[in-house]
Amino acid sequence: GATIGILGGGQLGRMLSVAASRLGFRTHIFEPGAHPPAADVAHQVTTAPYEDAAALGAFAAAVDVITYEFENIPTTALDLLEPLRPIRPGREALRISQDRITEKDFLTGLGLKTAPYAAVDDAASLEAAIAAVGVPAILKTRRFGYDGKGQSRLMAATDAPRALADMAGSPAILEGFVDFQYEVSVIGARNTRGDVACYDPGENVHRDGILHRTTVPSRLSAALRMDAVLLTARILNALDYVGVMGVELFVTPQGLIVNEIAPRVHNSGHWTQNGCTIDQFEQHIRAVAGWPLGDGSRHADVVMENLIGADMDRVPDLAREPATALHLYGKAEVKAGRKMGHINRIVTPKG
Ligand code: ATP
Ligand code: MG
Ligand code: MG
Repeated sequence: GATIGILGGGQLGRMLSVAASRLGFRTHIFEPGAHPPAADVAHQVTTAPYEDAAALGAFAAAVDVITYEFENIPTTALDLLEPLRPIRPGREALRISQDRITEKDFLTGLGLKTAPYAAVDDAASLEAAIAAVGVPAILKTRRFGYDGKGQSRLMAATDAPRALADMAGSPAILEGFVDFQYEVSVIGARNTRGDVACYDPGENVHRDGILHRTTVPSRLSAALRMDAVLLTARILNALDYVGVMGVELFVTPQGLIVNEIAPRVHNSGHWTQNGCTIDQFEQHIRAVAGWPLGDGSRHADVVMENLIGADMDRVPDLAREPATALHLYGKAEVKAGRKMGHINRIVTPKG
């Protein structure tokens, strides 16, 4: 069978490997860190830095198609891989989502709403950004942020020096604070034929900048649910996208505002593992392998909760809940703020 190369060996790479394996594919993980969660389940692992051109070349030669589980792959590595094997989702999706300014320019260019934003490089541009965007606002690093890292809130203009210091010299973006009612996300998929399928939007609650819980169904009205799915399809089509994408949205009285997009399987899509016949991981593998998309319709009400750090102590109790599916990532070391696993609690099976 064909071999799918996956850049990144975290829990997303692990769950992609399991899904690929179930379809008869082999997986080959490329990951700089030692003992990545995906290594337990992948067929092959290359441990090398993204700067190692020889290792990247050998990896490409050993696989049929390359995908990834995180978006911050260095451009130099992608430049090396691209002539050798197809990279799905493609370079354009990566380029756009690696920089919050480029991403927001793209989204607003499609006619979608985002928070007001401005680029910030120094005290003068921050002052101008505050004048343009207003306060409260959030200053975020343009690149490499995740789980709320690299963010600083400004309640007033006087917070500017502290917020700028928090960026530690990294190029930043100032975003106006969106007074949202709640947050939802759409997990969308598009295959090489251009077919698009979206999962039912989930409602997300964050704690300390990290996703805590996703609930399906969300509180979205039928009209807003349609808006959410249609705007996701618009994004996928504009990028000629192949694979699964997560689109994070703020729900406001004025409609949906796009927070950010992630060109990969997404934590808020983990509920699909127990709520759908074809989950987001299989859907992604199907798409990048050039297969038809599967049926992602929801057959149960599900609450997904992340197990972060010491939440692992709850596993024995959770294991006694008969309708709670446990998904543990096999990470040896428990650390505060570290995603160790998640649960999918089936609330009301549909009749
Ligand atoms: P992820 O792990 O989802 O990639 P991230 O580090 O990229 O996280 P964001 O999604 O930008 O972070 O922000 C994390 C959370 O902070 C959001 O889900 C939302 O709750 C809040 N937030 C971010 N930006 C804004 C904003 N402009 N207005 C209001 N709340 C915001
Ligand atoms: Mg993000
Ligand atoms: Mg986010």
